[in-house]
Amino acid sequence: MKISLSGLPHSSSAEDSKIERVKVLILGSGPAGLTAALYAARADTNPVVLAGIEFGGQVSLTYTVENYPGFPDGIGGQELVELFQKQAERFGARIEFDLATEVNLSERPFVVKAYSKTYLADTLIVATGATPNHLNVAGEKELTGKGVSYCATCDGWFFKDKDVIVVGGGDSALEESIFLTRYASQVTIVHRRDTLRAGAILQKRAMENPKISFLYNTIVTEIIGDESVKQVRLKNVQTGEEWLRDTDGVFIFIGHSPNTQLFEGQLEMDAGRYLVIDSLMQTNIPGVFAAGEAADPHFRQVITSAGMGAAAAMRAVHYLQEQMAEKVKA
Ligand code: NAP
Repeated sequence: MKISLSGLPHSSSAEDSKIERVKVLILGSGPAGLTAALYAARADTNPVVLAGIEFGGQVSLTYTVENYPGFPDGIGGQELVELFQKQAERFGARIEFDLATEVNLSERPFVVKAYSKTYLADTLIVATGATPNHLNVAGEKELTGKGVSYCATCDGWFFKDKDVIVVGGGDSALEESIFLTRYASQVTIVHRRDTLRAGAILQKRAMENPKISFLYNTIVTEIIGDESVKQVRLKNVQTGEEWLRDTDGVFIFIGHSPNTQLFEGQLEMDAGRYLVIDSLMQTNIPGVFAAGEAADPHFRQVITSAGMGAAAAMRAVHYLQEQMAEKVKA
């Protein structure tokens, strides 16, 4: 027998509009969070999504997504996020442009403090995504926003007819380099090994692009400039040779780290600080589920994050039904 979820207490109390009880609270509004919202909404749980810092997550900063099924000609990252949002809202999901600042998962309902209010959540889905890694070299921090960037879609336009360096050898580095050739006169990909990590199609496209060249076995050891980037110090890791090279911009695409700091000491994490989940998307705390890049160091695709979001929501709904069944029995 399916247990109706409508009997669970929810919605904001009249006594205190700063506290709201929700059945399903979703942290993060990327493909994982918005797909979880769609599934939870279709199960009639009125989920609330706290959008976090970047609405739509990393994909919203991606110019074109070519590998999400159903869009044979590709789709803009921002446009895809808007479609996810529209679909989730159509079934009753509510998106709040707010950020969780503190969680207490030792109490039930779980307590999640955000800037505008405190949520008491019967279930929680963590879909907080990941943030680009930094090189941690001299000049990087000081020149961020002055020629150092982690987002070609956001900043590429500023480099019209300019020379840029791209650091990294993965899919992101190559995809963003190809995008940067719309603006930049020359893009040099600096990679620390002699073999690229990126997939074959992107490698082929980048290698065929006349504006892109490669510097293998090379690292950036310093970024130099005052009001803007002027030079980088490069080092060949095989010969130890170092030299300065003029450039106008440095785009860094060297992987990501999960946004899981909020759950430190409460949710189990692996050595890379990714949330540990079981095959049913559950963390070490029953009722707390995780999806997307916060819990996925391996696949990190829009489609896999969306799939994890759907699975997490289905399990959250199942968990609510079990809780209801226990209440009925008691
Ligand atoms: P990634 O695959 O982890 O690649 C990171 C790259 O940065 C690697 O080449 C790595 O070198 C290099 N690197 C890491 N730390 C470095 C450091 N400190 N200094 C210099 N280089 C450093 O990350 P990603 O490219 O962001 O891709 C992440 C995931 O998203 C992957 O699963 C990827 O397939 C996926 N993705 C897919 C698409 C697509 O399908 N179109 C687009 C973007 C991303 P090594 O190779 O030597 O380790």
